[in-house]
Amino acid sequence: MANTKEKLLEIKDLRRHFKVDRKNELKAVNGITFDIFKGETFGLVGESGCGKSTAGRTIMGLYQASGGEVVFKGASVHAKRSKKEQRDIHRRMQMIFQDPYASLNPRMTVKDIIAEGIDIHGLAKTKKEREDRVIELLETVGLNADHRNRYPHEFSGGQRQRIGIARALAVDPDFIVADEPISALDVSIQAQVVNLMKRLQKERGLTYLFIAHDLSMVKHISDRVGVMYLGNMVEIATSDGLYQEPLHPYTQALLSAIPVADPGYERSRERVILEGDVPSPINPPSGCPFRTRCPMAMEICSKAQPEFIEHQPDHWVACHLYGNKN
Ligand code: SF4
Repeated sequence: MANTKEKLLEIKDLRRHFKVDRKNELKAVNGITFDIFKGETFGLVGESGCGKSTAGRTIMGLYQASGGEVVFKGASVHAKRSKKEQRDIHRRMQMIFQDPYASLNPRMTVKDIIAEGIDIHGLAKTKKEREDRVIELLETVGLNADHRNRYPHEFSGGQRQRIGIARALAVDPDFIVADEPISALDVSIQAQVVNLMKRLQKERGLTYLFIAHDLSMVKHISDRVGVMYLGNMVEIATSDGLYQEPLHPYTQALLSAIPVADPGYERSRERVILEGDVPSPINPPSGCPFRTRCPMAMEICSKAQPEFIEHQPDHWVACHLYGNKN
């Protein structure tokens, strides 16, 4: 768990809309607000298309925000500033991708892939220093010095993800957005990559935004978890709080879809089956975005969007079932 509550990032009413045609916009991220504390892992989950990857990229500044703000270590990520200042901010925020193969240039050696950031930011004064740093990074992620002159296709999926992690670490970041970093890996390899990320977090004081499409994946790595639906944040809680007492009907449905190890409990527990498809983010429902699939929907749900409220300490939810005064 994070042992400090110092805010590393403040995400305030962040929006990212994409123009589809002259009249329509796709509201991929539609006003999300939360903090990420220094040294923690914040898990971000939701079905595909809910806006979590777009949120991650907008938080990093890879996408411009359509509205709202991201404050990283006191500085606004999307503010206009000199190229050098922008580079310095970006050095502190790195990304690990879902498909490590697609994100590694197949024509570059592992050494050059890892050293790219070192070169851009001028972090090594000599060739030898650059080489030593690459070797140290390879060893840090469980690979060895001989791997540096090989090409990405010579590695397994798990090894490629380790190369992606080494590349992110090369510039000594504070914050890493890990966008579904284990989804494409064999189950047997997933735990190894998660354990590596946890160890690196401890050793280097890293802060993670860990994006995943299913709650079971983020459970073990996250201190807190945020659940997104149709571009909105619907619930945030500590990992234990969310799994023990999910408040939002959407979170309850996601959790009930996870198989449990106890066969007796598995047979007896109630399942919440979600009906229908996720509505289009171009034309989201009025009121609560989840109302077209919610088994608990009431009249008010089509009329007013529920506020995101702290229903219990450290447990936030956007649902009319929980004391919204609208
Ligand atoms: Fe369901 Fe209404 Fe709560 Fe939305 S606000 S999740 S529709 S009960």
